[in-house]
Amino acid sequence: MVNKQYTSIDKLTDLYHSPMMDLLYKAATVHRENHNPNEVQMSSLISIKTGGCPEDCSYCPQSAKYNTHLEVKPMMQVEEVIGLAKNAKVNGSSRVCMGAAWREVRDNRDFDKVVEMVQEINGMGMEVCATLGMLNRSQADRLKNAGLYAYNHNLDSSPEFYKDIISTREYEQRIETIDHARSAGISVCSGGIIGMGESVEDRVGMLMTYVHMEQPPESLPINALVAVEGTPLEEQDPIPVWDMIRMIATARILFPKTIIRLSAGRTQMSHEAQTLCFFAGASSIFAGDKLLTTPNPDFNEDAALFELLGLTTKKPFQDGVQPETKADEKVAIAKKVRAEKEARKTESKNSKFEPRQISVG
Ligand code: SF4
Repeated sequence: MVNKQYTSIDKLTDLYHSPMMDLLYKAATVHRENHNPNEVQMSSLISIKTGGCPEDCSYCPQSAKYNTHLEVKPMMQVEEVIGLAKNAKVNGSSRVCMGAAWREVRDNRDFDKVVEMVQEINGMGMEVCATLGMLNRSQADRLKNAGLYAYNHNLDSSPEFYKDIISTREYEQRIETIDHARSAGISVCSGGIIGMGESVEDRVGMLMTYVHMEQPPESLPINALVAVEGTPLEEQDPIPVWDMIRMIATARILFPKTIIRLSAGRTQMSHEAQTLCFFAGASSIFAGDKLLTTPNPDFNEDAALFELLGLTTKKPFQDGVQPETKADEKVAIAKKVRAEKEARKTESKNSKFEPRQISVG
C-alpha cells in the first residue's frame, strides 16, 4: 500500500524536510493506525557463507576487491545453521534471515543446502528470509516451495547514486531479482543504506523507485552505513541520527503497511535515538551481536531496552500465512546420502570395540 498523498518527488521531499515534530507526529499516527506500536519484530541474520564476493559494493567488507582483513568462511553446514536458528528462537527472534556473499544463486550443492535450511527453519515455525544475490524465477520457485517467506534484495540507493557505489551489477538487475521473488509468491524485503555520501534527493529517489513498483516491499530495511576500514567508504563520517529518524518516518508515512526495519548502525545510536526510531515507525530490528560481519547490540542489551520501553516481540506470521514446505528431490537425496554415511560411521565405530573371542587351550 502506498500513501497517495506523497507520490510526487516534490511532496515526498517536502515531507522529508518537514519540521521534526510534525514529521514524528504524522509518522507515529500512521504507525498506530496500521501496526501495534508496542510490538517490535526481532530478526536474526546468519551469515551462511562469508566474504570472497566478486561484487564491488563500496560499503561492503565482504567484497573480494577490498582488503578488509575479513576471514572468508565457506558455506556453513545445515546442522550448524539450524543450531543458530534454534538459539535465535529461544532468544525471541521470530524471523531468520540467511545471507550468503554471492553475486548470484547457482544451481549447485550449496544452493541445495540453502533449500534444506529453509525447509528446516520453516518447520520450526519461524519466518525464513534469504539474501543470496541475484536469482532467477526457477530458483525463486524452488525457495518458495521449500517454505521461504521473504527474499531480501536491497536497492541500496537511488538509480543515479547507485552507479557511484557499485559497478559490477546494474540497478535494473536488482529490480529483476525483486520481480522474480515477487512473482514466485515470496514476500519482498528491500531497502537501502544512508550515509554513503548520497543526497536527500537520492534517499527520496530510492523511495520513489518503490512507489513505482506494482507493489511496494512488505519489508523495508533502513541501514546507516557502518564504515569499514579497507572499503572505499571507510572515511565516511557517521550520519546524524536525525537523518535515520527522518528516513524512517518518511518511509513509514509513504508505505503505511510495510514493516520498516531499523537495521545496521544501531551500535552508533543511543537508546533514546533508537526509541525515536521506534516512535517514528520502525517495528523490526536485527538481534544478535553481529550483522553479517559488522557489530550489533547483543540479545541482552536489546532485551533490557525492550523491558525499559515496555515493548514486546512480534510473533511469526502475523502479516502473512506460513508457506507450506513441499518435497524437494535434491534435498531428499542429500539427506539420504548423509544418513547412509552416518550409519556407516556408527557401524565401523561399533565394530572397532567388539570384544574378540579368544580361544584358550
Ligand atoms: S553487498 Fe552482497 S553483493 Fe555486494 S559485495 Fe557485499 S556480499 Fe557481495
